[in-house]
Amino acid sequence: MTDWQGKEQKYFLRTVNRVPVVLVRGEGMHVWDDEGREYLDFVGGWAVNNLGHCHPVVVEAIVNQSHTLLQASNQFYTIPQLQLAELLVEHSCLHRVFFCNSGAEANEGAIKLARKYGKLYRGGAYEVITTMQSFHGRTLAMTAATGQEKFYLPYTPLPVGFAHVEYDNVEAIRQATTPNTCAIMLEPVQGEGGVNVPHSDYLKEVHCWCDQQDILLILDEVQTGIGRTGTLFAYEQCGIEPDIVTLGKGLGGGVPLGGILASEKAAVFEPGDHGSTMGGNPLACAAGYANLKFILENNIPQHTMQVGQYFFARLMELKQEFSFITEVRGRGLLLALSFDSPIAEEVLLSCCKRGLLVNRVKPDALRFMPPLIITEAEIDRAIEILNGVLREKG
Ligand SMILES: *Cc1c(COP(=O)(O)O)cnc(C)c1O
Repeated sequence: MTDWQGKEQKYFLRTVNRVPVVLVRGEGMHVWDDEGREYLDFVGGWAVNNLGHCHPVVVEAIVNQSHTLLQASNQFYTIPQLQLAELLVEHSCLHRVFFCNSGAEANEGAIKLARKYGKLYRGGAYEVITTMQSFHGRTLAMTAATGQEKFYLPYTPLPVGFAHVEYDNVEAIRQATTPNTCAIMLEPVQGEGGVNVPHSDYLKEVHCWCDQQDILLILDEVQTGIGRTGTLFAYEQCGIEPDIVTLGKGLGGGVPLGGILASEKAAVFEPGDHGSTMGGNPLACAAGYANLKFILENNIPQHTMQVGQYFFARLMELKQEFSFITEVRGRGLLLALSFDSPIAEEVLLSCCKRGLLVNRVKPDALRFMPPLIITEAEIDRAIEILNGVLREKG
């Protein structure tokens, strides 16, 4: 056992099975371990480092802000928070923002907003419909919202007010809607659930149902937002305008930052209703602002769409070649490759040995969520490594 594995066993709560690599440095598409080995990174800090590791504009913003003002509290205005709020709202269909520190926290706030909306306009309706195989975070309420038993069974009794229905099934949502329903919360593409893409009219039909019933549509874009699927927000590809969008992961350019975006109709908080000590602090917002500004000014979502299609096509070539690959799925640079048996962990470890970092999203599926700045040549290199690994399995 290595020294760091010993330290983990001795000092940590057991929450994760780590890949046996200690990362010490990152730059662009690459990271290096403590022994100087280089890896091509298709995990990207878990769909976080959309501009790659230590992008100069993000680093510069953090360095400058760290000399200026780190934390001020929301009792006062700060410039980075104002700048980021304006940029987000001006580039989305929504009107108001709240900043927090993580995706789960953004979703918690969104549920509070929906419940308040229910109290004010829907006779006290409080229930939120979510879907099976969803993922909304690890707080107690978000484990209840998440439609996967492994995340909530150990923690019962759970907060009430969540109903789970099949994903990509509008009729199931209609059936589950009651006078108690105040909102529906969905991921435009399910990330942690295995990279599941619904049929093209799903969100449009759900949105239509929400409008008819006067219930709110909350899109959890913690994973799909900030360019990941080829548009700044995934909802843009569905021709709808949701009432609430939650953000996390890619928002902060690598530092912890979450956000809730709400339409004027859904923006029912009053002063004192919600808050966060660190949420929207100047350091996180300066990083987030530099990150988002660069993404917008350099058309990164459009690049993501193009290279995402190229990557998808190259993965389809692998599927042609290896009969044990069952499916390629996803959108933009949120893609998955599934196998006919649970070999994902084994494939991941072999890739790692050959200098490619990937994620095992299901026992039988790998997920790819590289930085959005990736080039076709880097995709080719990853495909070459995957091909070598799969050849050994086949
Ligand atoms: C990662 C994720 C979350 C949770 O975000 P944290 O920052 O880990 O709390 C919520 N929803 C979706 C869709 C996610 O992918």
